[in-house]
Amino acid sequence: MNIVLFGPPGAGKGTQAYKLVKELKMIKISTGDLLREEVEKKTTLGQKIKSIIDKGLLVSDQMINDLIEKILSNHNYANKLIFDGYPRTIDQAKNLDYLLKENNQKISCVLSLNVDKESVIKRILSRQICLKCGHIFNKFSNPSNKENHKCDLKYLNTRSDDNENTIRHRFETYTKETFPILDYYRSQNLLHEIDGMLEINEILEEIRAIIHSL
Ligand code: AMP
Repeated sequence: MNIVLFGPPGAGKGTQAYKLVKELKMIKISTGDLLREEVEKKTTLGQKIKSIIDKGLLVSDQMINDLIEKILSNHNYANKLIFDGYPRTIDQAKNLDYLLKENNQKISCVLSLNVDKESVIKRILSRQICLKCGHIFNKFSNPSNKENHKCDLKYLNTRSDDNENTIRHRFETYTKETFPILDYYRSQNLLHEIDGMLEINEILEEIRAIIHSL
């Protein structure tokens, strides 16, 4: 099974991906995480990527397609993938289909988390990410505590692109470049729409039901 988690920035894709990885022993592929890893290396490429991310724009399809090609050619990952924040353009979606076909795989379902713009902005402004384990928290609605998080609090961080100006640009980029992909997946009968305003565990329940029905 290969799953695409779809939705605007802050829809809760990363949170659900984290839970599905644990529950189903799948592998999360977040192109945002892969790009941030390159930024951390402080290479010339990393600096270019950071300036694009901080403007709320998308990095080139070519760069993303190259990253994904390496992952799909790894047989250990076959049919265990959860894509988070990818694909983000029609070109990436078509390239993903092509690469999966080349590797005798396919997308099993596309789960779209629907959340409105102002809720997304509020959520992202209070988002915290653990630099050690990758777990995503929200200062107000889902704070880190001893029950849900083992790492030291010093690892909790906010992303440089999680400021209001960049978030508004990210949402515009999503509406213009990414949202049209929904029709592409709808026409292939792969799309499942979920109310992303529900509680985290209610969304997980819906996802479980969809996966069960496949
Ligand atoms: P995310 O962690 O998914 O919110 O992504 C953070 C930023 O990384 C985005 O705002 C884009 O600048 C860049 N990015 C992540 N995934 C992609 C992608 N598939 N295509 C282009 N840019 C991406």
